[in-house]
Amino acid sequence: MAGVIRRLDETVVNRIAAGEIIQRPANAIKEMMENCLDAKATNIQITVKEGGLKLILIQDNGTGIRKDDMEIVCERFTTSKLQTFEDLASIATYGFRGEALASVSHVAHVTITTKTADAKCAYRANYCDGKLKSPPKPCAGNQGTLISVEDLFYNVSTRRKALKSPSEEYSRIIEVVSRYAIHNSGKSFAVKKQGEMVADVKTLLNASVLDNIRVVFGVAVSRELIEVECEDQKLAFKMKGYISNANYSVKKCILILFINHRLVESSALKKAIETVYTAYLPKNTHPFLYLSLEIAPQNIDVNVHPTKHEVHFLHEDSIIESVQKHIESKLLGSNSSRTYFTQTLLPGLSASASVAKASCSAADSQERVYAHQMVRTDSKAQKLDAFLQPSPAQCRADKASSPPTVEPDDSELLNAVEAVEPCASEDTQPDFQPPNEAPPRKRPHVAEVKEDLTAASLPRRRVIKLSSIKELREDIEKQTHKGLQELLQNHSFVGSVSPQWTLAQHQTKLYLLNTTKLSQELFYQILIYDFGNFGVLRLSNPAPLYDLAMLALESEESGWTDEDGPKEGLAQYIVDFLRQKTEMLEEYFSLEIDGEGNLTGLPMLLDNYTPAMEGLPMFILRLATEVNWDRERECFHDFSIECSHFYSIRKRFTLEPDAEEPQDAEMSWQWKVEHVLFKALRSLFSPPKHFSEDGSVLQIASLPELYKVFERC
Ligand code: ADP
Ligand code: MG
Repeated sequence: MAGVIRRLDETVVNRIAAGEIIQRPANAIKEMMENCLDAKATNIQITVKEGGLKLILIQDNGTGIRKDDMEIVCERFTTSKLQTFEDLASIATYGFRGEALASVSHVAHVTITTKTADAKCAYRANYCDGKLKSPPKPCAGNQGTLISVEDLFYNVSTRRKALKSPSEEYSRIIEVVSRYAIHNSGKSFAVKKQGEMVADVKTLLNASVLDNIRVVFGVAVSRELIEVECEDQKLAFKMKGYISNANYSVKKCILILFINHRLVESSALKKAIETVYTAYLPKNTHPFLYLSLEIAPQNIDVNVHPTKHEVHFLHEDSIIESVQKHIESKLLGSNSSRTYFTQTLLPGLSASASVAKASCSAADSQERVYAHQMVRTDSKAQKLDAFLQPSPAQCRADKASSPPTVEPDDSELLNAVEAVEPCASEDTQPDFQPPNEAPPRKRPHVAEVKEDLTAASLPRRRVIKLSSIKELREDIEKQTHKGLQELLQNHSFVGSVSPQWTLAQHQTKLYLLNTTKLSQELFYQILIYDFGNFGVLRLSNPAPLYDLAMLALESEESGWTDEDGPKEGLAQYIVDFLRQKTEMLEEYFSLEIDGEGNLTGLPMLLDNYTPAMEGLPMFILRLATEVNWDRERECFHDFSIECSHFYSIRKRFTLEPDAEEPQDAEMSWQWKVEHVLFKALRSLFSPPKHFSEDGSVLQIASLPELYKVFERC
């Protein structure tokens, strides 16, 4: 039986229409945000409760709404922006339909508080189903508009049920607002949850597009961006934006696209851009782009439905091709120059780690690294220093392919250090004698075989049962960056640029490693793992702690001022203080102080390695000032930090004043870096995660990428 056709009730029609425009809180916010921008606001603040379902507050400092217009502002098809159909062609505002506020008022309780510049006070009014509920009431308020939307979809239960997760809605709100914020740099935006003090997105009035991208998407991407800008008069379009370079990639393509200042989508453009990037990015990874296109208004139909994001425009193919070309040229340019020194080791590392696995596990020809892609794979092959000025010292070092037992350069350089006692001090500590055998430190990445060999040739170790040390070891393990560890284990040493910087190759990538930071962390870990088991570096002439403390206080680095009191008093205090700790320092750290207050021995952390003695005075001073001696764990941690700082290889190492032959001194650090430090980094080291982000490890070139550049030349 055919149903009877009846005209729908007007409120039902309006509600259905509203539901089409406002499908979720983020749509409502987008519409209202566009109204704020149309009203020339420079500050837009959004507060929401329950993902916008309970409450949306959106406040701006724009022109406000005239009191006389308040009556009809929420009715359908009322707008201050468009009068004739022809106006559409040149419309410069977001809104022109007069539908948004009406729609919201049909599915929520709306309150508008607004003040124009010339009104004496603000007015407030409530709306329901497009209509004013009672005449606007005067109230206090600043210029601009505050719109409150309560109980969204209170009268559309199906919609309400479909949107059950406030957190999902909130993240959509964050997404849309942050995209508008990026595009509208120079205006400030903020979004927060009601009751929270801090905004989840906040951009500042005078921030640039790049600043805003950094705020929203983080520094990792913002520092890998290339600015793009192009114009084509024939095609009547302009483009501006930022695109990620070949060093950066994400799992899913992020394309923030504005066409004529509207946030839109164009799958054709997206596909075209992705095609360009496939030549530059690792497989299955994608770029980040923010693009703002301006197309002659007559070539694009703005009269698309608010919920329709996909756009098409005249000359689409040609414009897309032109954009493609521009992006390609920018990527090429950046690959050969700008990317150097910009990349920390993020995506590349994990990628190369997986290549390593694939190439040794199975005959996966796709993942294999071919010989022609290798720069140098044998660590015995020629290194960087072979290309530098030859010097007698160099020849000597070249001959010394096996580590000398005593570095002759060292004894000249550091005549304070005389002999090495490569034994643990267990004999003097019978109370620590382990009941049976003492297992060597358990470090997962140290080859078992190696461990056995050293165990056989070394005196028995003391077992350390202190929970503080166990915890510190656990911290090191928890923090380990596995990919970086793999890199260090399997690297090929290329050469030392300076005491601070070393080049190493891993797979097809070249890395610049901060030797200072790496060595400091290495020594820290040795201090924690070999705790209580160090050999002793005995000083040939005992060094009075008092003199060392005075030397430190006299140096600028100490930051001593008159207010600290006389140096002599401080120095004596330091001596007395450290003398109280003698027993503990010797027992755990092999730091020896004799009965007269002289330093006589330092821990031997690595064979053939002695710290630069010029750092000794500051080390002594800082032991007294920077170490928390009251708590066990902090004490061991702080001491190890200070000690590792002293032992780390640093720039000043070469400035050793006693070094009479600078050539020798220089060879000495180079030899140490390669044969002592990097050898230890291969086997004894658990690089912490932050090394991949703080510039300690930088990828400076990737061979496949370079080949791509050459192929195009
Ligand atoms: P449209 O934006 O298409 O004109 P809307 O329903 O979004 O339609 O808004 C209706 C009218 O309300 C606008 O034309 C504008 O005059 C006024 N308006 C809405 N929001 C604001 C605001 N934040 N500041 C000033 N005027 C506003
Ligand atoms: Mg609008």
